[in-house]
Amino acid sequence: MNNQKQSLLVTGGAGFIGSNFITYFMKKYPNTQLINIDKLTYAGSKKNLSEVENLINYQFINGDITDENLVKDIFSNFNISGVIHFAAESHVDRSIEDAKAFVESNVLGTFTLLQAAKYAWEKKGLLTERRFHQISTDEVYGSLGEKGKFSEETPYDPRNPYSASKASANMIVKSFGYTHGMNVVICSSSNNYGPRQHSEKLIPTIISKALSAQSIPIYGDGNNIRDWLYVEDHCRALDKVYHHGNKLETYNIGGGNEKTNIELAHEVCEILDQLVPEIKDKASIKSFNDLITFTEDRLGHDRRYAVDDTKLRQTLGWKPSMTLDSGLKKTIEWYVRQWEQVIH
Ligand code: NAD
Repeated sequence: MNNQKQSLLVTGGAGFIGSNFITYFMKKYPNTQLINIDKLTYAGSKKNLSEVENLINYQFINGDITDENLVKDIFSNFNISGVIHFAAESHVDRSIEDAKAFVESNVLGTFTLLQAAKYAWEKKGLLTERRFHQISTDEVYGSLGEKGKFSEETPYDPRNPYSASKASANMIVKSFGYTHGMNVVICSSSNNYGPRQHSEKLIPTIISKALSAQSIPIYGDGNNIRDWLYVEDHCRALDKVYHHGNKLETYNIGGGNEKTNIELAHEVCEILDQLVPEIKDKASIKSFNDLITFTEDRLGHDRRYAVDDTKLRQTLGWKPSMTLDSGLKKTIEWYVRQWEQVIH
């Protein structure tokens, strides 16, 4: 097959952010030819793509980005106009247990894609034009004290194997930009939340434990601070950076919603108290807050993350549109609907 129509290659599009991005992007640009390569690990699901799976200009490839031959074939069989690279092992706790898959998918996988893109685009004389967009995280910068924010110039100081693998991937991406002149760009966002996030992550865990009236585990003293970004706001930022961001630049993307984990858990519980009072009544509790329990802290648990995203706001005119309160309501309603479908 040799399809010369330009196609955007998205990696990891069956996961949380990737699937929200593809759904958003194909609605906004209905004529885009889009190829999604995803290995469908425990974290990915084709169900996340139900809104696009039947579109004729959408194609799914079940594959591993570390598979050199497969990735090369994609670049030779399709006219890949750009890459938006989400695919990664993404859960810090799993990287603490065993980091091998993180090094393989996040570091080697990124290198494999860059190498194939470089080869294909160089041959077409388009190496400096076609975009490679790396999706990264604020975790690469390390941990903050009570004050200050990470800027794009903050040196990388990753503290766990997940963030170390993401920082390594970013370094390789930058090196292809500096050495070979590739048109690379990096986005480092804060913690995302929204529909379709895997149940192992903090907000889905709080919701699923509450809905099944089980104790809600919060690490340590609950005072670790994260800045929460609604996933669709993230997608809008990525759209701007993919189309208009400057080559070799990094753009931080924040939500402007710093919360301690315990504050966040209380907010989620209070929304659930309003939304599904019959469950808490059946469990004979006054509020889902009563289910919160503190557990042994995560090893190397970074205390605070917060990004300064002035550059993105001032140069590309982006700002988040969702308040934490409305974003949480929307998210929780989505999880409750999923949960109702399973139990009925
Ligand atoms: P996710 O775990 O929900 O999804 C990752 C997807 O990548 C899954 O569908 C999985 O099957 C796929 N994948 C993993 N290894 C692969 C491989 N070797 N080949 C092909 N596909 C593979 O993750 P997410 O939360 O959607 O995160 C997406 C990206 O955004 C990641 O790069 C992550 O580091 C970054 N990020 C996430 C957050 C967040 O809060 N979730 C914040 C900042 C940055």
